[in-house]
Amino acid sequence: MLEVENISAGYGNGDVIENLSFIAIKKEIYVLLGANGAGKTTTFRAITGILPLSSGRVVVDGIDLWVEPENAKRKMGYLPEGERVYPDLTVYKNLRFFAKIYDVEEERINELLKEFRLEKYKNTKAGYLSRGFRKRLALARALLHNPDILVLDEPFSNLDIPTALSLRDKIFEMLKEGKIILFSTHILSELQNFEGVKCRVAIMKEGKLVLEERLENLLSKVSSIEVVFKVD
Ligand code: ATP
Repeated sequence: MLEVENISAGYGNGDVIENLSFIAIKKEIYVLLGANGAGKTTTFRAITGILPLSSGRVVVDGIDLWVEPENAKRKMGYLPEGERVYPDLTVYKNLRFFAKIYDVEEERINELLKEFRLEKYKNTKAGYLSRGFRKRLALARALLHNPDILVLDEPFSNLDIPTALSLRDKIFEMLKEGKIILFSTHILSELQNFEGVKCRVAIMKEGKLVLEERLENLLSKVSSIEVVFKVD
């Protein structure tokens, strides 16, 4: 279980996200839906311990991120927006770099190369990969240490339909394995792909969570979401 309690965080000029609270549970997708600049990436950076909290708590399966940062971080895998990988390192070396940090066996790298159909690009520099394959590499990297919680920042952006569908299937598979999936998007229609699975959606606006709904309820209230998104 991921417990986010009243967190605030920012970049030095004051807090960008304020007093956010939510709980994400096993076998569930938790989505942050919000316009550009709403604070989705900042929230994910705060949850994964990349950005320090100015107040509040993040607790992962009973482990407080502030008290035991390494143990809490180990339970999470993060896919950053724009699938940031090291462009000058080969696919293999990108994975090996993180495998060393997490003390992960070589065998796991090979397993992921196979699973994400990256084997034939093993010795290709990551910067030469197509966007979809860079996304696969970034996802493989996020999964290296077999985290219980996957935090995916705009995972579907700029993917063609087949790649997006295979990512969706991968998310379904990970849910079945018992993982918690968090992802962000600014595109409501993307969520139609997740009808039928346990999915809650939090709408973010100006650094705050303004509404939380089960996906099925939300999709039946589309007009009110337009109101939520309207810039004042
Ligand atoms: P997008 O959909 O465009 O990625 P977002 O919802 O993920 O947006 P954030 O990237 O979290 O939003 O940005 C929230 C606010 O924080 C914005 O006003 C942004 O300008 C500011 N911000 C983001 N990163 C930084 C940074 N490194 N330094 C200062 N301000 C930042």
